[in-house]
Amino acid sequence: MSGTFHYLFRQLPYLDYWPNARCILDSSKRVAVVGSGPAGLAAADQLNKMGHLVTVYERADRIGGLMMYGVPNMKADKVNIVQRRVNLMAEEGVNFVVNANVGKDPSFSLDKLKKENDAIVLAVGSTKPR
Ligand SMILES: Cc1cc2nc3c(=O)[nH]c(=O)nc-3n(C[C@H](O)[C@H](O)[C@H](O)COP(=O)(O)OP(=O)(O)OC[C@H]3O[C@@H](n4cnc5c(N)ncnc54)[C@H](O)[C@@H]3O)c2cc1C
Repeated sequence: MSGTFHYLFRQLPYLDYWPNARCILDSSKRVAVVGSGPAGLAAADQLNKMGHLVTVYERADRIGGLMMYGVPNMKADKVNIVQRRVNLMAEEGVNFVVNANVGKDPSFSLDKLKKENDAIVLAVGSTKPR
């Protein structure tokens, strides 16, 4: 019995009918999240569930950070895990903007983001090894 339970529990994230948890709260606060790696996505997910209007800005052309462009597919499947989660978050109300190099591209300057949002989360990861 417990083996069956554990098997089903582990399958839950992969089921297509996993409920869409669109938030019914509305704080009317806007938050910009810069960077779409695991840190940015986790922050965006939590903020969205709290009822804030969240937009994730990513300088690359795909969402996911190192989960998309660094970690090999055999460790984290790009379509069935990373992109699937991004799609669910989009359905739940999170906005995603790609090719948005915040701080370098004038269309996505920090000043502009500050004016348009109540808060900014910087989750830009690191491109330099320790
Ligand atoms: C090969 C490999 C295997 C790994 N395996 C594991 C593992 O098995 N388990 C584990 O826990 N971790 C693993 N990691 C580490 C894990 O991937 C990182 O710890 C994690 O991705 C860090 O998340 P992050 O959100 O902080 O940064 P990142 O994933 O680096 O995301 C930061 C994002 O911010 C974006 N960004 C930066 N500057 C700007 C800007 N100015 N404007 C807009 N966007 C910007 C970047 O393009 C990037 O997409 C692995 C890493 C690698 C390379």
